[in-house]
Amino acid sequence: MTRVELERVLTLNRVWQPITTVVVKQALTLVFRGRARVVCPESYQMFDWANWLREKAVPGDAHVIEHDYIRTAHLQVRKPEVITLAKFAGYPNTGVPYSRRGVYERDNGQCQYCGIFVHKRAMTIDHVQPVSRGGATSWANCVLACQRCNHGKGDRTPVEAGLTLAQTPVQPTRDQLILSGVNKQDSWKPFLNDKHVKVKA
Ligand SMILES: [Zn+2]
Repeated sequence: MTRVELERVLTLNRVWQPITTVVVKQALTLVFRGRARVVCPESYQMFDWANWLREKAVPGDAHVIEHDYIRTAHLQVRKPEVITLAKFAGYPNTGVPYSRRGVYERDNGQCQYCGIFVHKRAMTIDHVQPVSRGGATSWANCVLACQRCNHGKGDRTPVEAGLTLAQTPVQPTRDQLILSGVNKQDSWKPFLNDKHVKVKA
């Protein structure tokens, strides 16, 4: 997939509460199947698939085409920024399941040992308590680390390796993942209620 296809799209439930983010390709699939509609962040207008295709007018600026449009074999579809699910009106009450992407989002793309920004493609997950010594693959035992820190730490605990964690890893809330600095886009602002969630600058 291209870089644009992997960008995140804010996903609202039917009553426009933010519930998660999905990649562009997944968002377009949901709209194509009639399970979601695209929301225009400026006009709040909603578009089903047919209407969204009508919106695909391609501006003359090649730069814009490159960054805001998804190329398929026959079409150029504009990248949605926000979608709303057609049926689901509640709020997911399950805990956020562990995932590598989730760790990346929770840790804001920063190595939890040295603090440098780590590109998604170069990310590694460090088991604070090493797997070889019984450490679990879980929110509480996994952190984002750069390759240098992770290799340097090896099969040791942070104390043994002389490393300090930026923060104690815990299971994040959905809001924290949605509002992660590595995802958040300006166009999402009208749909997010930031008041209760602290966002790292
Ligand atoms: Zn590091």
